[in-house]
Amino acid sequence: MATAIHGAGRWIQIIGSDHEAAAFDAIINVGTAVANELPWVTVNSSGWLARVATAPSGANELPWFPASANACGSLAAACLGAGAAFLTILGRPPNISHEISLFSHQEADLGMLHAGPALPSGPLEIDAFLVGCGAVTNGWAYTIKRLPIVGRLQAIDRQALRIENLGPYVLATRAQIRTPKAQIIAELLAPTIVVTPRPEEWELFKIRLNYGITVPALIVNGLDHVGTRHSVQRLWPETLVDMAAGALTTQVIVKPAATDALCLLRALDIPPGELEWAERLALETGLSPERIRNGSVTEITKADIDTAGTAHGTQLEKSRGKLICGRVTEQNLTMEADNPDCASAVPFVTAFSGVVGAAESLKRLMGISSSLHYQRHFQSNRSRALRMLCDPECECQKYQGKHAGDGVD
Ligand SMILES: [Zn+2]
Repeated sequence: MATAIHGAGRWIQIIGSDHEAAAFDAIINVGTAVANELPWVTVNSSGWLARVATAPSGANELPWFPASANACGSLAAACLGAGAAFLTILGRPPNISHEISLFSHQEADLGMLHAGPALPSGPLEIDAFLVGCGAVTNGWAYTIKRLPIVGRLQAIDRQALRIENLGPYVLATRAQIRTPKAQIIAELLAPTIVVTPRPEEWELFKIRLNYGITVPALIVNGLDHVGTRHSVQRLWPETLVDMAAGALTTQVIVKPAATDALCLLRALDIPPGELEWAERLALETGLSPERIRNGSVTEITKADIDTAGTAHGTQLEKSRGKLICGRVTEQNLTMEADNPDCASAVPFVTAFSGVVGAAESLKRLMGISSSLHYQRHFQSNRSRALRMLCDPECECQKYQGKHAGDGVD
């Protein structure tokens, strides 16, 4: 595992006793004991619950009771443990002793919460879009893989894996660099969930909705770009789960269409300076934004090449006669330049966002989903789950219970 992630020559040392553990900067114990004299973090899980206690909290034991196995609770505990160990290594060991429920999103003192309902004995069936296959979606897929879920997904992401993704992506290994991110999700979830990888721009994927692909009841977002998140919201799926992470904060929003709960249009403002998708691609390819928006299934012409100027003309000349959408997909998958606006989050934050998103997806499949506006801050170790409403003037109120498949565009 160390080689797959960190490269050749890296290895994991196996030790035999707590005595040897004293030589390390941080210790994670999956169990119940807390050694207060060491830089110690203990985590465990029962059902939907994740528990964590650190040495500075003074707790000398983490409670535990058996409950039906549930990857949401155990993987959330893993994220809490990794987060506490990270802060400990930084010399800021957190004072935490609490448990959280991935079912109710309550946070409480140790031993207070119920483990939540058992998972069904038979598999649940998913049919969804997964939009964006980056860091938070890696956490989502890692969790879903370990839940009793079968079915199918359309996974949409325009990029291929790059070396800087290895840190925040829990699924990524060096061998996958330059593999489309949607393909990585497909390979992970096979064979129980059949994923159609769509290594393409969301707005170009949307054209497929006119040619046989229908809007599913569930859409799961793992996107940074607010304009794209609004565009997904405007399909008005029955349930939209939007997962996000930035710095040390996780956020998950669940919007059931047939409610007045807060939708992404009101929850997220497009930041000043965020480029609209076709404008971004115009800068990267030399094609005009209008041609990208309205002519994506037409061929690149001499006029396109002449308009592009010297910076992009040579590249476009090579693509002459090919479809614009093909050039766009190629540009996205091979893009070398870093996005200067990308504020990378650390893996325990992104993965935690994915775990919460997976729990909400699971609840939707179990028929017990409701609206949610959830945040957790890994520095303050506080989380909150709010029920926020949209105003009657919001677009989402007009489309309550209607979907793109019903003729709304
Ligand atoms: Zn709204």
